Amino acid sequence: MLYESSNKSGKVVFMFLLSDKYWEIKNTKNKGRGVFAKKDILKGVVIGDYIGKVIHPQDAIIDEENFYLMYYNDYAVISPDLKKPGVHLLNHSCKPSSFLYTYKGHTLAFALKKISKGEEITIPYLLSPKDDFCNPCLHICKCGNLKCSGTMHLSKDIYEKWRKLSEKWAKKTKKERIIFGKELPKLKIYPQIPEEYIGEIKKLFIF
Ligand SMILES: [Zn+2]
Ligand SMILES: [Zn+2]
Repeated sequence: MLYESSNKSGKVVFMFLLSDKYWEIKNTKNKGRGVFAKKDILKGVVIGDYIGKVIHPQDAIIDEENFYLMYYNDYAVISPDLKKPGVHLLNHSCKPSSFLYTYKGHTLAFALKKISKGEEITIPYLLSPKDDFCNPCLHICKCGNLKCSGTMHLSKDIYEKWRKLSEKWAKKTKKERIIFGKELPKLKIYPQIPEEYIGEIKKLFIF
């Protein structure tokens, strides 16, 4: 069962869609906590949904927690409950094992390739190019890959291309209505990730 939910009570919404048979939170050597596969996860499987409270960007507390805000639209951001396990715990990598897909406004994390048991589940944070506001910049990458860029910020060129690509795909589905101050409701059905989308990402980022 691919989209198994941890939400049994119907009240508490966890952001991982895969049950905890598939993942565990462990300490890493140099990146704090990380999420690791407890079982093989097949390519294309939706791992989680970036669920959290819907808030106005101006209501976001400007502190370190801002790091976990996820864009919904120009008027709303998603602020996850940091006490619950979820997609916000995935570490950044320059060669990530999973990636993000926008579907009905939701940001889904899915396996970009087969993730083997024991492997860390990572995503790219896809931060906009480093500017004067990001100073001192805390977005240093320690992923340890051969082609590690040393930063979670994208270059101007890649960022512009990524923005166009993601906007094009986000427009293919309609955003669902949201209520400010409430938790973003889980989707009724989670989609298959289009092969074409995965192909376009791999071409752009050369993972
Ligand atoms: Zn930075
Ligand atoms: Zn890196």
